[in-house]
Amino acid sequence: MKKFFIKTFGCQMNVYDGQRIASMLSQRGLVETHEVSDADIIILNTCAVRAKATDKVFSALGRIRRAKKPDALFGIVGCVAREAGAHAFKRIPELNFVLGPQSYHKLPEILENPDARLLNIDLGGLEKFDELPQMSQSPTVAYIPVQEGCNHCCTYCIVPYTRGREVSRPFEDVIRDCKHAADTGAIEICFLGQNVNGYKYTDSDGKTYRLSDLIRATAPLPEIRRIRFTSSYPTEMTDDLIDMFRTEAKLLPFLNMPIQSGSPNVLTRMNRPYELNLYIDIVDKLRAARPDIQISSDFIVGFPGETDQDFAMTQEIARKIKYINSYSFKYSPRPHTAASLMPDQIPENIKAARLALLDDALNDIQRTFNESCVGRTLECLCEGPDKTGRHLVYRTPYMQQCIVASTDAAPAPIAAIKITAANKASLRGELAD
Ligand code: SF4
Repeated sequence: MKKFFIKTFGCQMNVYDGQRIASMLSQRGLVETHEVSDADIIILNTCAVRAKATDKVFSALGRIRRAKKPDALFGIVGCVAREAGAHAFKRIPELNFVLGPQSYHKLPEILENPDARLLNIDLGGLEKFDELPQMSQSPTVAYIPVQEGCNHCCTYCIVPYTRGREVSRPFEDVIRDCKHAADTGAIEICFLGQNVNGYKYTDSDGKTYRLSDLIRATAPLPEIRRIRFTSSYPTEMTDDLIDMFRTEAKLLPFLNMPIQSGSPNVLTRMNRPYELNLYIDIVDKLRAARPDIQISSDFIVGFPGETDQDFAMTQEIARKIKYINSYSFKYSPRPHTAASLMPDQIPENIKAARLALLDDALNDIQRTFNESCVGRTLECLCEGPDKTGRHLVYRTPYMQQCIVASTDAAPAPIAAIKITAANKASLRGELAD
């Protein structure tokens, strides 16, 4: 029996793509292995969002070509494949396939014709969704893409190049996927898109559907207990969507809404043309709709031209909004982006110093919030046992990890957990009576 090995890097969209690839190969009779040396086909499902992520892929490929069986097929799919294209074959001549994020459904072609090289980095839009078979068993958290690509063209971001212009999936296709996920084991639905709250689909009768319509149609599914979505662009947070946090109890009180910088000058150079006051108003509206809602953000520090004063404004907005669970990165120039050509690139040592300062502030906010949860009872999703087998790992409605001492082999998927302790990274808890 032939075996496949797959390693996924990067965002939730890649996690979804990795699940679909694994399911597609399983349905063709291949079995997953976690050992490269045992695999007949090796797939790296890649992320190009930062230069470091791309470097990681090529150093992993270097290790794999030494460790794999001589006749094993190996290649890359995803954003690095789209970024590198045929150049990937020059860097690693033994590669058998290079498939972009919208053409990985062509992977079986290499199984049928293993002596050929397969290169396809076309932007096929939604074609892959029509071609891929449904997964026979859904994970507990079902990631459901509602769109591909992005039209925002932030000047630092490679996504519009790797995943193309934004295309929303038909409403009925997304709902069909949600129902299938609910029927095959999903407890939580996470709607996915690079600009998920920009979802907009008009059917043949001229009726337009937004993300709020997807949430409203999914909430009645009895198997689905939790709904969330990621990642949101601030100005697409329309009133109908904000209202969902007021009216739909299954929608979790947690939202990732990246601000990236607290400086209007930097936001302009990033081509993220929103006023800080508008962003703050949206947060206020969200808190009015759902008083316990928590917001997380992504931050880029050391963007070209960022001054000490610009950076101080980023620290200030982080403290003002009190973001939890945020992601912060040093700016990393990417090919095909306008920011990589901007003057006034910031030296690495300054970027590193600013990142350390921001991380300290974000960690303090996170720790304070985690500590405020001690004594509360939260309805949490069980993710399964930890590595020791002596604990179960739960996910709170605010996406915190909570560890519970238990060896229960068949825990309920959702449980009320009393939070007993907290630190910056996670919570401890026990099953509530
Ligand atoms: S909104 Fe997000 S995905 Fe779209 S260009 Fe900006 S950073 Fe990239």
